Amino acid sequence: MTTTKKRELDLSEFPPGTVTEYTTLVCLACIFDIFTKQLGLAPRTAFSEVKRHAPTIEELTSRSATRPYFDSDEKNPHCPYCGSAKRWLARFDTYCIEGSKTTDAARRTLLRKLPKADDQFLVIEKKSDSRAVFFDWLDTLGGSLDMDDDSWLRDATRMYLERRERTTNWNEVFEELRAVRRSSRLTEGWERDGARLFLAPQLYSEAILIQYLVSRSHTHGGLTLEGRLTLMDLIRRLRYGGYLDQLGITEREPGEVFEKLIDHLASTHEWGRSSDRASSVKKKVSTGSGSDRVAAKKSSKKSSKPRKGKVSLPEPEVIVTEPVKLHYLVDRRDFLDKVKSVYASYAS
Ligand SMILES: [Zn+2]
Repeated sequence: MTTTKKRELDLSEFPPGTVTEYTTLVCLACIFDIFTKQLGLAPRTAFSEVKRHAPTIEELTSRSATRPYFDSDEKNPHCPYCGSAKRWLARFDTYCIEGSKTTDAARRTLLRKLPKADDQFLVIEKKSDSRAVFFDWLDTLGGSLDMDDDSWLRDATRMYLERRERTTNWNEVFEELRAVRRSSRLTEGWERDGARLFLAPQLYSEAILIQYLVSRSHTHGGLTLEGRLTLMDLIRRLRYGGYLDQLGITEREPGEVFEKLIDHLASTHEWGRSSDRASSVKKKVSTGSGSDRVAAKKSSKKSSKPRKGKVSLPEPEVIVTEPVKLHYLVDRRDFLDKVKSVYASYAS
């Protein structure tokens, strides 16, 4: 078989957090069975039908897969429906790329490079909205964190900042970081001082919110840098910290406040739209007091001089769910290879 060669796609041109990867296994014994026994097709016809098979996005990305699809982390997985071994199993890799100005160019370049023959790759577009995209992102984030290790609070903060401000190298900012704190001086952006990262109040509030959202399904309440909080605790803190006022959230009922917060967090992630605003804000800043920003960038990494960064904030009055286009890229190469080899053994 020729499936051992390395086939990873190069996704390095995409900003962090803009591409979600899914892997699903499909059992070819089960598929052939469905086509030959249930649909009554001859093996040869079944083979050409199976080869054309294009799974739906739901089949490729849902948490609870159904026959002939399944998920497995095992090295030598078996089909949970019929027990077939590895050589009957094929893999679909699916990449979900969030459509926006920051990903469009990278996406077009990637698609241009892909082989076209035999539909080795499928491109499926789906309309979604900022809220659904945000919850998917939260879900992926939660799955990637080790909640038993306290460092997840920092990791969650970093991943949120990566998603929010994609032009900063957050890996570098978080290198050898010991603590994340709320800044009492900064009104926007962030500052690294020694092993500590100081976030402006609004950013810090959002980091807490993300931590709450990621951990609330795991435990009672949510775990944050501020300790374990119930929804009431969380909202109280955000209100006293001035965050709700800043966003123009005047509701008193916790459920309503929560809904508004979610829409806000989700909408700040429409990078394509907000990046224009962000760069114009940055430019305005740099004509006035831009020198410290440049100097901070030039200073050596180990310098004790605090480094600063600005993260521009969305306009407070607009809190709405925005449409987002998702581009799914389905890698069918392993599937096509396996169908061929399975058919060869089936027909002989
Ligand atoms: Zn099976």
